Amino acid sequence: MAEQKDVIVVGAGPVGMLTALALAQTGASVTVLEQEPHIINSPRAAVYFPSTLVILDELGLLDELNAIGFQNRTFGTHVPEFGYSSIVTTDPIDGIPYDYQLHAGQHDVARVAMEHAQKLGVEVLFEHEVAAFEDGPDGVTVTVKTAAGEKTLAAKWLIGADGARSTVRKLAGIEFAGYTWPERFVATNVKFDFRQLGYCQANFVCDPDDMAIIAQLDREGLWRCTYLEDASLPLETYEERIHQRYKHFMQGRADYELVSSSPYMLHQRAGETLRKGHVLLTGDAAHATNPCGGLGLTSGVWSGMVLADILGAVLRGEEDESILDRYSDERRRIFWEIVTPAATENKRMLQERDPAQRRKDLEAVKALSDDPDSGAMLMLFAYKVIGDLLRPASRWKDADPTPRVDLDIAGRQHQIH
Ligand SMILES: Cc1cc2nc3c(=O)[nH]c(=O)nc-3n(C[C@H](O)[C@H](O)[C@H](O)COP(=O)(O)OP(=O)(O)OC[C@H]3O[C@@H](n4cnc5c(N)ncnc54)[C@H](O)[C@@H]3O)c2cc1C
Repeated sequence: MAEQKDVIVVGAGPVGMLTALALAQTGASVTVLEQEPHIINSPRAAVYFPSTLVILDELGLLDELNAIGFQNRTFGTHVPEFGYSSIVTTDPIDGIPYDYQLHAGQHDVARVAMEHAQKLGVEVLFEHEVAAFEDGPDGVTVTVKTAAGEKTLAAKWLIGADGARSTVRKLAGIEFAGYTWPERFVATNVKFDFRQLGYCQANFVCDPDDMAIIAQLDREGLWRCTYLEDASLPLETYEERIHQRYKHFMQGRADYELVSSSPYMLHQRAGETLRKGHVLLTGDAAHATNPCGGLGLTSGVWSGMVLADILGAVLRGEEDESILDRYSDERRRIFWEIVTPAATENKRMLQERDPAQRRKDLEAVKALSDDPDSGAMLMLFAYKVIGDLLRPASRWKDADPTPRVDLDIAGRQHQIH
């Protein structure tokens, strides 16, 4: 029988690797299993808010990632129909050390986390695809497919961080309740200087037919341009349509170089529970949101950190296992009460069709850009609301079930819902 680890994490994506590192820092022995031969580099998360920066800093990764990526303090909202553009800039905020967004590929976040985790003894096994598991009284036995045949591994706890299509979740028989949006998201990486056309380093383009989220990815001129298309259009030909769609965002310019692209389904779904016996879910395997506004990894990373905190405490015998049910309840609640409404509102605004509502949205954007505190509020929303509601583990027992959304900015009180 294989040696029993404290935890097996399935998935070497950003959440799996950050959770593995956090667990190793609490003293747990951890193995990570990844089906691919290397960390996946598909065009996905690229922008991290202060709530994620807090975690990256705590884990000791922030300086390295700041050097790989870059810091951005501007956000543009463009409404082409009204010829309107606004720029919100975040100035340094007293008492908040993270007054910027970090732009970096999520594969870099996963890779840097992996390097740190390996130094603490975390075993990362690529080309190890989880195919089955059995949950018994003392832990979980996992069956893995490898090039050399099937293998069995054992751990006290199994964490499924294996993405929205999670095999662990399916094998555990946990329903992924919620809904799938009718549109397809097309994410493209392209070499083109969007700044020449008045874009900021991160932008929303609000348009009922041609919405887009445009952000700079690196210092060498790579940008992300993501847009929605009708999911009933044939998937096989989505690449042929990219150039047509670019005409709108690039104002007819053709001097770009398309580097990569990928289509995605969009969901608002969460596991009906995030804990079943010794099996736990985190990241997209636990809850998947449409990525308008970048709340997917933001919320997933926090689920992983909260889980690492409390599972570490359970492993040390400081907390009863039942606290893991609180993890499930609280992270599901945050997903449905905070993340889903915010991401849904972002998506609605980006593609709103009703002219009267579009004008109302524009007024709201204008009010935000006229408010000197708006940059701080944007930063603090993600900093306070998604993240630190329930940390550290000791706070969990008496956690207030209502979201903490009161903000004090420069002596003025704000409420965010
Ligand atoms: C276009 C786009 C843009 C986005 N932008 C942002 C953004 O700016 N900010 C943000 O916060 N979020 C963003 N998101 C969301 C973000 O990408 C996801 O929330 C994030 O990838 C979730 O990370 P994860 O580690 O949970 O899962 P994943 O990144 O999906 O990783 C899961 C891993 O598990 C592995 N795996 C799967 N099955 C098995 C198995 N059976 N055995 C072993 N390994 C397995 C996979 O190979 C993969 O490596 C975006 C998403 C999209 C689609």
